[in-house]
Amino acid sequence: MKAIRLYGINDLRIDDVPPPIPQANEVLLQTKSVGVCGSDVHYFHEGGTGSVQLVRPLILGHEFSAIIASGPDQGTLVAVDPALNCGVCEFCKEGNPNFCVNLKFAGSEDTDGAMQTFLAWPRTAIYPLPSSMTPDEGAMLEPLGIAIHALRLGKVFPGMDVGVFGTGPIGLLTIMMAKIAGAGRIFATDRLTDRLKMAKDCGATHVFQADGHEVDPILSATGNRGLDVTFETAGDDGSAVETAIQTAKRGGTAVLVGIPSEDITQFTASAARRRGLTIKLSRRMKNTYPLSIRLVSTGQINLKPLITHTFPLEAYQQAFQTAADRQGIKVLINFPGASS
Ligand SMILES: [Zn+2]
Ligand SMILES: [Zn+2]
Repeated sequence: MKAIRLYGINDLRIDDVPPPIPQANEVLLQTKSVGVCGSDVHYFHEGGTGSVQLVRPLILGHEFSAIIASGPDQGTLVAVDPALNCGVCEFCKEGNPNFCVNLKFAGSEDTDGAMQTFLAWPRTAIYPLPSSMTPDEGAMLEPLGIAIHALRLGKVFPGMDVGVFGTGPIGLLTIMMAKIAGAGRIFATDRLTDRLKMAKDCGATHVFQADGHEVDPILSATGNRGLDVTFETAGDDGSAVETAIQTAKRGGTAVLVGIPSEDITQFTASAARRRGLTIKLSRRMKNTYPLSIRLVSTGQINLKPLITHTFPLEAYQQAFQTAADRQGIKVLINFPGASS
């Protein structure tokens, strides 16, 4: 079977590897659709993110759907939670599986991910999808989960003014979530104008080019009150973090979601301190799959406009390049052979 493996910086290869043998608690999955995430692009371009660096050739991919390929549920389309927590450590028991000390995560550190034809994965981490959902939508439930978790941290309530700075897939999903949570006005920024257009389609009421001059117009649109909750969802450099701090109201909350490529986050201390901001750092998500499936299957969240590029497995290089160049919104790789 085929696997897309990262050997080093900008060195991605397609290999023939033996199929995995599932253990007693696992099912064999045949991969259908895998998203190329910003963190995969960090691995591809920089060999890792922050303190997590490539230690051996690694199969990437953590946003995915698959078909169950063995046992009584064979043929069922499922979404797959890439995070496997132990359930017994102090932090799992505190209700924070995303902080598990024994966490394994598909396509990260020493755990191979979904960019392979077959994958063995624990039964407890797979979620059957309703027949109304497509494999590509199934792959989008992981980034939707990130947005759900960020929104929970931000505690958005009806009527609030909200900022979302950086409108890639996570930012756009955060805008959609803020909208259905009842946000009154949603202010969004990005460097790319096509992404701002998409932000409006997703529910942003005010959009601004991220050109270093976006703070003043946002503040003046609120009568200099500021925003109740701000989300940083850009991750590429610090400017969206600064915007999230500078536009939050007195006593407001800023939620930092993006992964900074330089592994440094900085902002003007006095702007945060004098207004007594609560700053929260979002770490992946926890138990979001049942909710994300309901949100999509009931039509409250429409993922389809975000899926702008799909590539067959053979075009994996082009898929990574498209994601790295920030073309469109979400890039997915479709695996052949599996049908539901
Ligand atoms: Zn991701
Ligand atoms: Zn644990």
